[in-house]
Amino acid sequence: MLLITFLNKFSIARVILTILVSVCLFDALYIHSSEAQVSDEVTVFEGARLITGKNEPPILGSVFIVDGDRITAIGTRGTLTVPDDALRVDLSGKTVMPAIIDTHKHPSDQLDTLTAQLKELASYGVGTVLSLGLDNTDAVYHLRHELLPNASRYMTAGRGISTPEPGRSESAYGTAPAAYWINSVEEGRMAVREQADKGVDFIKIWVDDRGGRYEKMSPQMYTAIIDEAHKHGLRAAAHIHHLEDAKGLLHAGLDVFAHGVRDQDVDDELIQLFQQHPEVYLVPNLPDEGVAIDIRGLHGLIPNEVIATVESEYAGTTAEKAFYQIQARNLKALYDAGVKIAFGTDGREMWEVFIELENMVDAGMTPADVIISATGISADLLNLEDTGTIEAGKVADFIVLNGNPLEDIKNIRQIDSVYLRGTKLKK
Ligand SMILES: [Zn+2]
Repeated sequence: MLLITFLNKFSIARVILTILVSVCLFDALYIHSSEAQVSDEVTVFEGARLITGKNEPPILGSVFIVDGDRITAIGTRGTLTVPDDALRVDLSGKTVMPAIIDTHKHPSDQLDTLTAQLKELASYGVGTVLSLGLDNTDAVYHLRHELLPNASRYMTAGRGISTPEPGRSESAYGTAPAAYWINSVEEGRMAVREQADKGVDFIKIWVDDRGGRYEKMSPQMYTAIIDEAHKHGLRAAAHIHHLEDAKGLLHAGLDVFAHGVRDQDVDDELIQLFQQHPEVYLVPNLPDEGVAIDIRGLHGLIPNEVIATVESEYAGTTAEKAFYQIQARNLKALYDAGVKIAFGTDGREMWEVFIELENMVDAGMTPADVIISATGISADLLNLEDTGTIEAGKVADFIVLNGNPLEDIKNIRQIDSVYLRGTKLKK
């Protein structure tokens, strides 16, 4: 009797255990297929002109193998052993390049809008985006490095740090100023510590008097902020306007310029300072060119209402054109000097990625170098080791194009398909 009771109890326990395990397994499978968005098949992509995102010529007639979310091998036809049951995708006549990485963007800090924007960015081939300092809600931290289906990977600099700018809010999405408004070195350090505790990916600062309207952040303040960021293993990016501040920030150990010098042409002293700090990145972030945007190839790619606004845009003022030209010349000068140029679009329109790529070429960079900026170099800027280039071991984040962007950077508008984490985006 005692034995039977024991067996029954044992059986009941086993049934309960089996149910629990099944539920857990089901849960795990569910997360695996829908949230992590990892495909299980091995796929071979054959025949494309392959731009790797590294400083090397494209591979013609390429073959690369994707297993789950990873690239496992790269070569040319006949050089790779392909599993018999692999799915084969013929990309003859197409060009493949790594997904774009935008290191200076201001998406929404509201989760629903942000999610929609990350999906829009993904549809343009942007695989990763860094929100640069205007996030006033803690909700965004939940999306950090979340891999949502059909969406860009999201990173954030949380709340950036500036001196007080009453009457001016950098946030279009909230009423409160998005940045910390600091008045002392100690407040600057405290802001960094608070942000580090929240787990931000970057520290953002503004060093700008906004045309003389505000007290500019002092060298003592930004030096302390950069130092505190480094103590927490974080890099610092600065919004700047003036040549003198670019020099001061280079002396202070800044990691990233989120804008170029905008008040005048750069001089030899700045170029030499950059060369003494080869680890520093410049995100040129060119402003409106002041000329009408060529909308060819944007129909069907970006929202119709955006097309309408872009079409109706007037040719800019002489001042706007001059402001653009200073920054374009400065980009060319620093590019020629060997400065690491990364990619960022600023602003709140997701599709501006196309315009910025084109502006960088107009400024004098080669299309090949602009693509490396927007992929491999921008991944380095973000300390991302698993994306930004197409090579074995990396996450399969890439764009399939119908045109060759090395011939004309505008061909980046000719998107055939986008793959993020090995999965083709749904249109
Ligand atoms: Zn910005």
